[in-house]
Amino acid sequence: MGEQAIPYDVVVVGAGPAGAAAAKRARVLGLSVAILDKAVFPRHKLCGALLSGRGHKAMKAVFGLEPDREHFLYSREVAFKWDGETLAEFTAPYDLTYTYRVDLDHRLLLEAIAAGAQDYQGVRVTEFDDKANRVVLDSGAVLEYGVLIGADGAASPLARHLFGRAFDPNKIGFAFEAEVPDPCAQDALMSIDFRIVDWGYGWNFPKKDTRTIGLGSIKSLDQDLKAQMERYMGFEGADPEAVKIKGAHIPLGDYTKVPGRANVLLVGDAAGMVDAITGEGLAYAMESGAEAAEAASQALKAGKPAQALGLYRKRIGYIHAELDKANKLRHFQFSRAFTGVFKEKLATSQNMRAAFFDLLAGDTTYGEIEKRISKQLLGKITGKMTGWPARLADKLRG
Ligand SMILES: Cc1cc2nc3c(=O)[nH]c(=O)nc-3n(C[C@H](O)[C@H](O)[C@H](O)COP(=O)(O)OP(=O)(O)OC[C@H]3O[C@@H](n4cnc5c(N)ncnc54)[C@H](O)[C@@H]3O)c2cc1C
Repeated sequence: MGEQAIPYDVVVVGAGPAGAAAAKRARVLGLSVAILDKAVFPRHKLCGALLSGRGHKAMKAVFGLEPDREHFLYSREVAFKWDGETLAEFTAPYDLTYTYRVDLDHRLLLEAIAAGAQDYQGVRVTEFDDKANRVVLDSGAVLEYGVLIGADGAASPLARHLFGRAFDPNKIGFAFEAEVPDPCAQDALMSIDFRIVDWGYGWNFPKKDTRTIGLGSIKSLDQDLKAQMERYMGFEGADPEAVKIKGAHIPLGDYTKVPGRANVLLVGDAAGMVDAITGEGLAYAMESGAEAAEAASQALKAGKPAQALGLYRKRIGYIHAELDKANKLRHFQFSRAFTGVFKEKLATSQNMRAAFFDLLAGDTTYGEIEKRISKQLLGKITGKMTGWPARLADKLRG
């Protein structure tokens, strides 16, 4: 290792929303920061890029940015579908906002750089040296850290380094997505199909130049997701032969209980922080990135970097609690035992819609939703859970 190490308080690996949030907050807290990514931004990232109300709050809190109409399409028009059949069309109680990750992520990274984070794009880590608190880059540079933050996505090389694998192959989700050229006006219809696949759903989101059509589910289940994607595109009036269909892993509820080790912290998708019901990960990415920076700052200021993980775990307790509740409630959404009642509620229930939009807005928690569902219904669900095929029950309960 001939290179002189460059010292930083915090080194962030991965410059998506989680990494940019960590870098920006760490700078605000007065820490010296390096942020690195294998890509050069603007870079593409497969994503529906529906930024929820919770996402708006996180983006405002961390970056001071609002979802302006230059970069976001606004619409309240929603359809709930069931294997191609429209169950309900209605107007949401507030605007939903859709964007492109290629723009969003670039803007967030520029905010972190403008705040003073040292920018290393187009580089990969070739060695994580925990003992010396150093990362070696393929450019030859060596960066030394007080706290290392891994924001390197669902296939996180840092998680693989710490735990031998980035995710549990039995529980990881997988999604296909295509950008179908079809410029959309403000207030164009979005739709979600809740029955196009088992244990997942399909989405058709309006964007300025395209419609983003995709579906996702648990990868290890016995279903041909690609074939279902082609079928779904047909239902949505798109030709699967005319566009490129891409696939990517999505954690879908299987988060890492202990996200790191001592002064090494995992955030966002690298820590599996995606809602099992909504598939939302952007808000959690920004929230966890900022919380990791806060924990790093506290630990470094106390002169005890190894305490960063303990502090971080306390700070993200509220995120883990939400992910736990979503994991529990998805049994109601996806189990065959409740197919009939769920379909009926989607078509008719104002309460269910209100709960769905409150959740997306970040105005309620899964804990509150759970309370809204009567004890009687929950009892019924739990009773039926025990009768499920053991394979699926084991897989989903963890
Ligand atoms: C198909 C699909 C649709 C989705 N739709 C939505 C949605 O509509 N709304 C929503 O809220 N969430 C959605 N999600 C989830 C959301 O995309 C993620 O939760 C979010 O991207 C997490 O951000 P992140 O910063 O943790 O990771 P990422 O955005 O994945 O960023 C990780 C970064 O790490 C970099 N990296 C990886 N390996 C290395 C390496 N070795 N060295 C250096 N850098 C590296 C990558 O280049 C990347 O820039 C969707 C996910 C998928 C797959």
